[in-house]
Amino acid sequence: MPRPLNVLFVSSEVEPFAKTGGLADVSGALPQVIRQLDHEIRVMLPRYGSISERKARLHDMIRLKEIDIPVGTRHYSASVKSSFITNPQVKVQTYLLDNSTLFGRSGLYVHPETKKDYADNDVRFTFFNRAVLEVLKKLGWAPDIIHCTDWPTGLLPAYLKTLYKHDPFYKDTKTVFTIHNMAYQGVFPHASFAQTLLPKEQDSDRGVIAFGNLNFLKAGLVHADALTTVSERYAQEIRSSEEYGCGLQSILEKRKHDLTGILNGADYAVWDPSVDELIPQRYDARSIDLKMENKKALLAKVGLPFQERTPVIGIISRLADQKGFDLIGEVLDDLVQLPVQLVVLGTGEKKYHDLFEKAARKHPQHIGIALTFNNDLAHLIEAGSDMFLMPSRYEPCGLNQIYSMRYGTAPVVRATGGLDDTVEEFQPASGNGTGFKFTEYKSSAMLKAVQRAVAVFADAAAWRKLMKNGMAKDFSWEASARKYIQLYRGLARK
Ligand code: ADP
Repeated sequence: MPRPLNVLFVSSEVEPFAKTGGLADVSGALPQVIRQLDHEIRVMLPRYGSISERKARLHDMIRLKEIDIPVGTRHYSASVKSSFITNPQVKVQTYLLDNSTLFGRSGLYVHPETKKDYADNDVRFTFFNRAVLEVLKKLGWAPDIIHCTDWPTGLLPAYLKTLYKHDPFYKDTKTVFTIHNMAYQGVFPHASFAQTLLPKEQDSDRGVIAFGNLNFLKAGLVHADALTTVSERYAQEIRSSEEYGCGLQSILEKRKHDLTGILNGADYAVWDPSVDELIPQRYDARSIDLKMENKKALLAKVGLPFQERTPVIGIISRLADQKGFDLIGEVLDDLVQLPVQLVVLGTGEKKYHDLFEKAARKHPQHIGIALTFNNDLAHLIEAGSDMFLMPSRYEPCGLNQIYSMRYGTAPVVRATGGLDDTVEEFQPASGNGTGFKFTEYKSSAMLKAVQRAVAVFADAAAWRKLMKNGMAKDFSWEASARKYIQLYRGLARK
């Protein structure tokens, strides 16, 4: 029997503590599965002001108080609160790094009202990366693997390869860096390099500087021992084009033998209509007709009239350019003629708030909106919609199309990244397939895919087959978790 591995999973968002998008789903779910496969895994994230001491069951760790963390010319103190991610089978130890000056605010990266990045994000996340390493030393727990995710954790591999290179405590520790999104790189003015206290040779294009700026993501890509991203298709895309690689493609091309695509999974303890506690009517593939009760509830909730034979298209998303809302904007008037009803849950860029507010005013019978973050409503949309639209410009993995299939809600997606890897076009002749795809990033192509979906919807038997195909798909985490473990095993000292 190989020995169990010790793994620290570091992320800036983790369900159920803090979430803005799919990163939180992954960071909450994957460690539970790795734990269930008998490895010791613990999780670290910042303690944001929005995380309630009582609800999150935080406890002080007396041994881990006021640890000195140098950032630039200043010193900040880190304290640690302890909690757990739990399910009936396992508990995953979670550490929340606390410094109220830097993290005691309700937003994660941006101010909730102005939607602007916090001006001191360089200091906040430099502190976080350095503090993780200092806290582990105080704790006396040297993991085999530190698994970092996305730009907020990008400096950590750079620290291990430089300032901590000769530290005996970390002599057997290796890093894995997972890219959830190449477009968010943590770019700060060159002057921010001084905050990191990294050695001088890192202040160059061969180090953590890209295009003249400090770049957290690049630091991770250069220094981590292994790189992963969240679908095989995206792994190819990001190293082969400027558009997908967002300027860092040549580094990925150079490291292509260290880069693997491992698809995200779905946590079916949370996202499955047969156990979902957040929807009014539970159902499964054998009681599929009960789904209609959720459609009624959803339409009532967003103030749209219930029409059994009109398909409801759901959208749940960060309202960002990546997600393809410009395509929807171009053909909204055509969409509502189809006929369909559209329910949009999202928050983000103001131009998309304006777009959907205007559209809902113009088509009050056809478009219902909730421009906020609301997890309960997200579950109801999955359960109550007939179709789920994701016309992303690019999509590293995408989770909502995977959840949708389990809810019998047919995804209509652009064939990019993880969307292409997970959805198969429905073939009316054979009855195979799980959704509808279009390739060209054009509103006319998207509209045609929706039209194909509407045509199949009109044929109740074909639609039922499509729903059942999706519900039978299994994207649970175990297969992917085993791939991560294999990767860890290859890196760890035997
Ligand atoms: P991304 O990580 O790019 O945001 P994913 O599809 O991978 O996209 O994951 C999105 C996750 O965030 C899903 O769990 C989705 O339900 C959730 N989500 C996004 N926007 C909202 C919102 N406004 N309210 C509730 N949940 C949301």
